[in-house]
Order: sequence, then C-alpha cells, then structure tokens
Amino acid sequence: MNYVIGSGPAGVAAAASLLDLGLPVTLLDAGGELEPDIQAAADELGGRAPEQWSARDRDRLKGPLRLNAEGAPLKLAFGSDYIYRDVGTLQPVVAHGVDAYRALATGGLSQVWGASILPYSDADFDGWPIDASTMSPYYVSALEMTGLAAEDDGIAELYPLHIRPTTHVELSSQARFMKDRMTEHAAELERQHLHFGAARLAIGSHPTGPVRACVHCGMCLYGCPYGLIYSARMTLRTTLARSSHFTYVPGFVVRRLTERGGAVVIDAIARETSASWHRRRFCWSRSARIHNRLSCRRAIISCFRWCCGAPPGMPLANGCRR
Ligand SMILES: Cc1cc2nc3c(=O)[nH]c(=O)nc-3n(C[C@H](O)[C@H](O)[C@H](O)COP(=O)(O)OP(=O)(O)OC[C@H]3O[C@@H](n4cnc5c(N)ncnc54)[C@H](O)[C@@H]3O)c2cc1C
Ligand code: SF4
Repeated sequence: MNYVIGSGPAGVAAAASLLDLGLPVTLLDAGGELEPDIQAAADELGGRAPEQWSARDRDRLKGPLRLNAEGAPLKLAFGSDYIYRDVGTLQPVVAHGVDAYRALATGGLSQVWGASILPYSDADFDGWPIDASTMSPYYVSALEMTGLAAEDDGIAELYPLHIRPTTHVELSSQARFMKDRMTEHAAELERQHLHFGAARLAIGSHPTGPVRACVHCGMCLYGCPYGLIYSARMTLRTTLARSSHFTYVPGFVVRRLTERGGAVVIDAIARETSASWHRRRFCWSRSARIHNRLSCRRAIISCFRWCCGAPPGMPLANGCRR
C-alpha cells in the first residue's frame, strides 16, 4: 500500500500520480469540513443568479471580519475559520520571526487560496539545477487538474500558458481601466522591464452547480458559491474517489514517521477523540516508492548535488559545511 498524507494540492497530486501508475493509495488526512449549515447556505446561493441575491445574502456569505495575529484580515471560507481550527493544539510549532498559515482540513489551504497560478519563468530558475522547460509537462498535469482562466497576452512569452485556457473571466471595471492605461504606455513600461497581463487563475475545471462559467458575482475573496474556484477537495471528491484503488481516511493527525527495518511506521492520532487520543499505526513497505509527476528523487538529488557544489565554508541546505 502507498500512503499519502494530506489532501491539499500536494497530496492530491501525489495520489493522482500513484493511481495513474496503477498503484493503490490510502490518503491519511486530518480532514475537517465546512459547517453543514454554512455549506447549505452557500449551496442555496449557488443555485440562484447573483442578481437574485439580497444584500443580506451577501453579508451572510462573507461572515464576520476576523483578524490574524498581525491584525490583518484572515481569509475565511464562506465566513468560517474551520480550516485553521485545532492547528495550534494539534500541530504546535515554535516559530521565531516567521509565521505561516497552516490548515487541518479536507483540501487544505486551497479551500481559501487566491487561486493565482502564474508559473515560474526561466529567470526564476536562474541558478537552479532545473529550468522552466523541465517543469512544462508537470505544469500541464497540474493545470489539467485545476483548470485555467487566462489570456494569451503580453506576459505569455515570459510565463507560457502551457494549456489552452479552459475558461474566461472578465476583468472588473477597475482592472480594465488599469490595463487600458498600461497598454497606452506599453512601450515605456517595456523599456523599464515592466510586463503586464491578466492574472492566471485556477478557475473553471470542475463546475459543480448549474453555472458553468464565472458570473462575476464578485465574491471570490469569500468563496465561490458556484464551486468554480479550484480546491484540492474537488480532485479528492471526483478523480480520486472514482478509483477503486483509492481509500480516503480522514480524521487522523500524523504525529511521527519511523523507519524500522524495511518499513516506515506512521503514528497517527484520531482527531475527534482528543481526550483519549487513539493512536494508530499504519505501515508502509519501503519497496513501494512514491513516484510523483515531478520525479522528486531527481529534483532532490540534483539540489543536493547543487548544494554540495557550494563554495567551501558556505553552509549547505542540511546545515553541514563543506
Ligand atoms: C489566504 C491564502 C491565499 C493563498 N493564495 C494563493 C494563490 O493565489 N496562489 C498560490 O499558488 N498559492 C496560494 N496560497 C498558498 C497555497 O494555498 C498553498 O501553497 C497550498 O495549499 C499548499 O498545498 P499543500 O498540499 O502543500 O498543503 P495544504 O494546502 O496546507 O494541505 C495540507 C493538508 O495536509 C493535511 N495535514 C496537515 N498536517 C497533517 C497531519 N499531521 N496529519 C494528517 N494530515 C495533515 C491537512 O488536513 C491538509 O489536507 C494561499 C494560501 C493562503 C493561506
Ligand atoms: S469565480 Fe468569483 S466572481 Fe466568478 S462566480 Fe465564482 S466567486 Fe463569483
């Protein structure tokens, strides 16, 4: 059996790749779902055109304003903070001078992400052991999963689209105004090495409701009631769930991986019974290796070689010095 931990974008991509190779997959996940009443309210709005929504409907969808530790607004899903719930107690992390959002939920952070999916360009890979063209087939796989709303515009040369856009999203009036102004001054902007174009967005591959394309309701920041913004949960509930070789095990938080002989032992606790945490051990034979769409081993080995090629005295990625 092959175990994958987590149902965020990384987890579902790894699981899909293993299934493509004909290998069975068990996906262990902390899980966590949106409150049923909030989901029902969002689904109800998704069954109507935005013109039929009242101001109260919109406020209900947005939920209350919540602030993070730095006082910035916290990105919620239809007003719920469920994806961040229990993170502090179940996954405590001591961080100094750095903070990152973490999720314990089905779909992970992709339940609240901005869905902006600009690829890396050649310049971004400068000094790396791989280049943008190496990544191209993997971008294609990922985009086929997420869908792509994009224009073949001025930045496509730097940041290729990789697939034909699957949908089109109209610019807002402000964005159109800005684009028109920038187009007027395109030559000067280019002289200053400033490039512009429409956002590349993971929108429109898995419409779940009656609406098949963006209806410009303006609620992207709060959650799409039409289910048009990609979340890894969609891949889990569609592509992965359809496979008879796939098992989803939500409600377990993995605490430790231990190598023992020819096996890896996965220690996990049941999330819901926090008082009397139930510990379970899953066993993964090392002979079944993970084959991701991007050969992780190759990338890691290349990076390792690259690190080992660092000048004498320079700390390596693993903390050693040459
Ligand atoms: C507000 C916001 C906006 C963002 N906008 C963008 C954007 O526009 N474009 C972009 O590219 N990225 C964006 N990101 C980042 C993007 O969402 C993440 O990079 C991406 O979701 C990471 O995927 P992942 O699978 O590695 O992890 P996650 O999405 O965090 O998923 C982790 C998964 O693992 C599970 N899990 C975690 N720990 C355990 C454990 N111990 N045991 C069992 N299961 C566990 C969780 O339940 C979850 O399913 C945004 C993030 C945030 C917070
Ligand atoms: S993608 Fe955004 S603007 Fe389009 S329908 Fe969904 S929430 Fe509304």
